[in-house]
Amino acid sequence: MTESLTPEPHPTPDPLTVAARALVVDIEGTTSAAGFILGDLYDYARPRLAAWIDDHAADPAIAEARRQVIADADLPGDATTDAIVAVLHEWMERDVKATPLKTIQGQIWAEGFEKAEISSHFFDDVIPKLRAWHEHGVALAVFSSGSVASQVPWFQHSPDGDLTPLISGFFDTVSAGPKKEAASYDAIAGALGYAAAELVFFTDNPGEVAAARAAGWQVVAFSRAGEPFFEADFDGAMVVASFDDVEIVLP
Ligand SMILES: [Mg+2]
Repeated sequence: MTESLTPEPHPTPDPLTVAARALVVDIEGTTSAAGFILGDLYDYARPRLAAWIDDHAADPAIAEARRQVIADADLPGDATTDAIVAVLHEWMERDVKATPLKTIQGQIWAEGFEKAEISSHFFDDVIPKLRAWHEHGVALAVFSSGSVASQVPWFQHSPDGDLTPLISGFFDTVSAGPKKEAASYDAIAGALGYAAAELVFFTDNPGEVAAARAAGWQVVAFSRAGEPFFEADFDGAMVVASFDDVEIVLP
């Protein structure tokens, strides 16, 4: 072989290597396209809200969601289902991550997944890497603003089958706390049983990057073309465009 003195014009960068015992992933914009969630899934839930609220009035979670909508939107205590749904539709329009909305949508989507009327979306680079890291002994968990009730079927009904056997924990804003507060990451570390430095969080949201770093976690920021936070300012965090750009090794 002859040695060339000309450097490679576009050398492939080595994958970023992170030493961690557990990986926690955000969903929207990180594992999955935000447009799919705001498009297909919202379209599925929107016309089903009223019937769902009325048909499940006896479910304590739905009754609580109804009370929360009334409180948050300053509706009269005897507000009709139509009035509640109008508020929910407005929140969906503005992409407000309100807990009662997430609860009701989560139940509707769970049934939709169960009936195979909807299935989830993952970027092509995600599932093979999740499988490889799980195989390698890295614990996997999820932290999303979507309710746990919607996260589980999302992973259960992936285009590549049921991924829930890979996942050790699902966390949302009810079980862990707001995604932009460091204390939420402390809560997740405690629940998973790892020190902050043994954990890595993957997310596309600069505010979440800051919160997880403030809690002492390692963080990999995702800047994916076409997603809401593409080329955002991640304040010096490690930034990649794909799961293929990262390698996780046990410390
Ligand atoms: Mg996100």
